[in-house]
Amino acid sequence: LGLTEPSGGSDLSQIKTRAVRVEGGYRLTGRKKFISCGGQAHQITVLARTSDEVRRGFSLFVVDRDTPGFRVLEALETTGWRASGTAALAFEDIFLSDEHRIGPEGAGLLCLMRNLHTERILLAAQACGIAESALEISAAYAKTRMVSGRSLNQFQATRQTLATIATDLYAAKALTLRVAQRLNGGSWAGTEVSMAKNISAVVAQRATAAAVQLHGGAGCLEDSVPARLHRDARVLTIAGGPLEVMNETIADGLGF
Ligand SMILES: Cc1cc2nc3c(=O)[nH]c(=O)nc-3n(C[C@H](O)[C@H](O)[C@H](O)COP(=O)(O)OP(=O)(O)OC[C@H]3O[C@@H](n4cnc5c(N)ncnc54)[C@H](O)[C@@H]3O)c2cc1C
Repeated sequence: LGLTEPSGGSDLSQIKTRAVRVEGGYRLTGRKKFISCGGQAHQITVLARTSDEVRRGFSLFVVDRDTPGFRVLEALETTGWRASGTAALAFEDIFLSDEHRIGPEGAGLLCLMRNLHTERILLAAQACGIAESALEISAAYAKTRMVSGRSLNQFQATRQTLATIATDLYAAKALTLRVAQRLNGGSWAGTEVSMAKNISAVVAQRATAAAVQLHGGAGCLEDSVPARLHRDARVLTIAGGPLEVMNETIADGLGF
C-alpha cells in the first residue's frame, strides 16, 4: 500500500503523486517511500492526487510491478520489521487504464480510511503478540538466570516488572479484541481503533524494553530475541500512523 512519500506520511493532504486524466485512463507520476513489501510486491495500491480538492482530490490505483515506468528505487534498511522488504518506489509517467482505479474517482481517502482501520487493528494485534512474546521469554529467563545466588524471579523488582507488563498486556489485548469485534460487526470505530493501536504499541515498547533490560548483555546482542522484539516494537508507534496522529483522531472523535 503506497501512501507515504519522501515529503511526509502523517499528513496525507500533502501527497504529490498525481494521476492525470488522459484518453482511456490516467498517467501516474510520483514517488513513494517506506513501502512495506515494496521490493517484492507484484501489485502496489497507490494513493494519488486526481484533483486539487481537499477531501475528494485523491484516488487509489493498482499498479502492476511489470508496468513500464515502475521502479524500485532503493531497498530501505529499517530498525525493525527487517523481513518486510521496505522500499522506496518511483512511478514515472505510467499509463493506467480506468480499470486500475479502485472505487470512484475522488473516493481514495474514504476507501483508504476503511482499509486503515483494518491495518491499525492488525497492528494493535501485532503489538500485543510482540508484548506477549517479550513477557514469555522474560518470565522464562527470570526463572533460570542466577544472580547473587538467586534466580532473577526471586527479586521483587523483577516480579514487579513482570506483573506490570502482564497487566498492561491484559488491558491492551482486551481493548484490541473488543474493537476488532466492533469492526467485524460493521462499526466504523475510528476512535477506538486509534486507541487500541496506541495503547498496544506503547505496551509492546515497554514490554520489550523490559525484556532487553532483564536479559542484560544477552538482550543487547543484535541477533537476540529481546533485541529483535524491541526493534519490531519501536516501529509500531510510527508505521500505520504515528502515535500523535492517532491521538488527534481520538481527540476529534471525542470532540475535544
Ligand atoms: C517499517 C515501516 C514500514 C512502513 N510501511 C508503509 C507502507 O507499507 N505504506 C506506506 O504508505 N507507508 C509505510 N510506512 C510509513 C509510515 O506510515 C510513515 O513513516 C508514518 O505515517 C509517518 O510519516 P513520516 O515518516 O513521513 O513522518 P512525518 O509525517 O514527517 O512525521 C514525523 C513525526 O512527527 C510527529 N507528528 C506527525 N504528525 C503530528 C501531529 N499531527 N501532531 C504531533 N506530532 C506529529 C510524529 O512523531 C511523527 O513520527 C512505513 C514506515 C516504516 C517505518
